[in-house]
Amino acid sequence: LVLKAGSGKIGQRMIGEGISLWLDQEQSAVTSAAREKQVIIIDDTQTQPDFVRSPFLPEERSEMAVPMIVADELKGIFNVVSNLPNRFSQDDVRIYTTLAAQVAVALRNAELYAEQMAAVERLRELDHLKTSFLANMSHELRTPLNSILGFTQVILEEIDGPLTPEMVSDLKLVEKNGQHLLKLISDVLDMAKIEAGRMNLSMEEFDLMELLQEVLESMGSLARDKSLYLTLEAVPDHTLFVTADMFRLRQIIINLVGNAVKFTETGGVTLSVEKTTQVIRIAVSDTGLGIPPNQLESVFEAFTQVDTTTTRKVGGTGLGLPISRRLVEMHGGKLWAESTGTPGEGSIFYLELPVEPNPTAIN
Ligand code: ADP
Repeated sequence: LVLKAGSGKIGQRMIGEGISLWLDQEQSAVTSAAREKQVIIIDDTQTQPDFVRSPFLPEERSEMAVPMIVADELKGIFNVVSNLPNRFSQDDVRIYTTLAAQVAVALRNAELYAEQMAAVERLRELDHLKTSFLANMSHELRTPLNSILGFTQVILEEIDGPLTPEMVSDLKLVEKNGQHLLKLISDVLDMAKIEAGRMNLSMEEFDLMELLQEVLESMGSLARDKSLYLTLEAVPDHTLFVTADMFRLRQIIINLVGNAVKFTETGGVTLSVEKTTQVIRIAVSDTGLGIPPNQLESVFEAFTQVDTTTTRKVGGTGLGLPISRRLVEMHGGKLWAESTGTPGEGSIFYLELPVEPNPTAIN
C-alpha cells in the first residue's frame, strides 16, 4: 500500500517521505482494513497492547481505516486519525463508507478512462499502420502484376513467336485472373483510403453527357460480347454540366454499368439522366437477374454478393458498390437500387448528385 495523498501538516510530511506498507506483513488498522475489506476502528491506542505507533503520529489515540471498494476490488484505504480517544462513531463509519465508495467509483472511472484513451491511441496507430501498409502493399503488388499482365499481352500478341490454341486459352486465363487481381487491389486500396478518411475529391466542372458517352464506348465491347444493347437516353440539350470529381464519377458509373452487363443475359442496359432544380439523377437500368428486395441494401456492404455462385462465374470483388456509395456520399449525393428481384425484370441503380455540390470528407 502506497500513500498517495494526505491532508494536514502531518499528511503532507508523510507524502514527502514516500510512505508505504507491506500489505501482508505489517499490522495496522490500514493493512487490516485492506486485507479484510472492512472498516477497522481503534477506539484507544493506549488500551491496545500490540498497537504499532507511527513515528509521524506520536499523539495518535484513535483511528479509522475505511476500504475503498468498487465491484469487490480494493482501490485503496481512507485513513483518519485523531489525538482524542473514541473519536469515531457508527455515524462516521456510515458517512465515510459512502464517501469512500464514491471515491472508489471515481477512481475506477478515471482508470477506465485512462485505459480507454491508451487503447484509442493504440488503435489510431494500428489504423495508421494498416492504411500505410495497404497503400505500400498495393503499390508493391501492382508493380509485378502489371509486368505479368504486360508480358502476357506480349506473348498473346505472338511477338515472341507463334502459340498453340491451348497456349492462347491458358494465357487468356492468366490475363483474366491478373486483371481480376488488379481490380481487387485497387478496390481494397480505395476502401482503405475511404475508411481512413484520406480519400479526397478533386472537384471540377465538366459535361456529364460527354463522360457518359465515353463510359458507353469503353464498356460497349463487354455488352456486345454478350449480345446486349447498351444505350444512353440523351437529355434534350445534349450537354449537362456538373461539378464533381470526374475520375471518381467515371469509376462509379463504370462500376454500375459493369454490374448491369455482368448480371444480364438477355436484353440490355439503359442509362438515363434527369435534372431537377436540386439534383442530377443518373439511372442505370438493366433487364437482368434483379436483386431480391431484402438484399437491396446489403449489396452496398463490403464483400456482399447476392449469389456467390453467379458472382463466382462472372467475377467480382463485392467492393464496387460500397466504394461507389461512399464516393457518392462524399459528393453530398445518394446511391440506391430498386428491383423486384424477378429475373428478367432487372434492377435500376440511381445515382443522385446535388446540383450545388458541397463535398464532405467522410471518416
Ligand atoms: P461485385 O460486382 O464486384 O461483386 P459490387 O459491390 O459491385 O461487387 O456488387 C455487389 C453485388 O451486388 C454483386 O455481386 C451482385 O450480387 C449484386 N449486384 C450488383 N449490381 C447488380 C445488378 N445490376 N443486377 C443484379 N445484381 C447486382
